[in-house]
Amino acid sequence: MIHIKKHSNHDSYKDDSYAFNKSQPRKKNHKDYYMNSNLTNDHFRTVKAGTLNVCIIVLPGAKVDRNSTDNQSIVPNRVKRDIAAANKIWKQYEKNRLIQGVTFTITRSVVFLENISGIVSNAENFPIGGSSHLTMVQAMLKTGRKVCQNADVYVFYMNGNRFGPVNFDYSSTLAVTYNSFPLIIMTNASTDEYLLAHELGHFMFITNRFNETDDPEPFHELDGNHNRTPSNLMFPTPEFWPIVPEITSEQIHKALNSRVFYS
Ligand SMILES: [Zn+2]
Repeated sequence: MIHIKKHSNHDSYKDDSYAFNKSQPRKKNHKDYYMNSNLTNDHFRTVKAGTLNVCIIVLPGAKVDRNSTDNQSIVPNRVKRDIAAANKIWKQYEKNRLIQGVTFTITRSVVFLENISGIVSNAENFPIGGSSHLTMVQAMLKTGRKVCQNADVYVFYMNGNRFGPVNFDYSSTLAVTYNSFPLIIMTNASTDEYLLAHELGHFMFITNRFNETDDPEPFHELDGNHNRTPSNLMFPTPEFWPIVPEITSEQIHKALNSRVFYS
């Protein structure tokens, strides 16, 4: 069963247990390298750098800032901006030298001009709850795998200004990351350039190889997936972020323990 955990402006989907889909094709050539470490057991070493392969699917009506002459395979400007922001923030430098970090690459980006059969294009109409929700998610993953053979996560940009209905507290969900599926959904209201970086953070925490999925400084005992500092990238809402949100070296270290980097 898929169920939603509601809070302020953006959110992640929570499922009771994370079960990575084993049928998901895994990439082989990450070119990750290991930190010098005294640890004798390689198994527990944390990689210093990892590459996450992102598949981008843009559905009709998503505002992604395309040039009218673009063909469907050209990465739209908003997507370029969001991926650039993720690449900027998930890295730690010291005196211009990379200490550790994640690189996000777009394996492929496709803009769909027509509705895809079985998939709603407007996130406001997304079927929340029940079997139709799961059916929709599976249809999206199927499309994602057709578009990209070697992606770690599928990011759908959708029409609509929120995901699903308005929440009970009149807030709305701007973007979601699923717990049990490598799927992120961005709506037209997820305009902050660091919001995709936030959702990718959820994905990397959720896929922790030791199943330690909480943020290093959890927001709340009922919400360990967010950070408690308002200016931090992983705070539950973007409203207190400075122009560039903050991130800690512990968060980057945790992200580098996503099982994606150890396949
Ligand atoms: Zn979140």
